[in-house]
Amino acid sequence: MTKIQQVRCPNCGSPAKRFYFLNNQITETSCPVCDYLMVNCSVTGKVLESYAPGIAMMDASRCTPIPTPLSPLSVATFN
Ligand SMILES: [Zn+2]
Repeated sequence: MTKIQQVRCPNCGSPAKRFYFLNNQITETSCPVCDYLMVNCSVTGKVLESYAPGIAMMDASRCTPIPTPLSPLSVATFN
């Protein structure tokens, strides 16, 4: 089961989607407008993969939590 949240892209402010992969505890935030991508473990908060055009890459080895909290605009659940 995957839960999808509508969020605002922290990079460009466009509507983006956050996917919660509940079976493997992975959270992915992606923006179709600017190619922003953030993949992290929802249990440890460890960043597995991140890409943000125009923003310096974060050091994934430091397990840095997401600096900008995203405010959910709406929540939808799909089976
Ligand atoms: Zn964006």
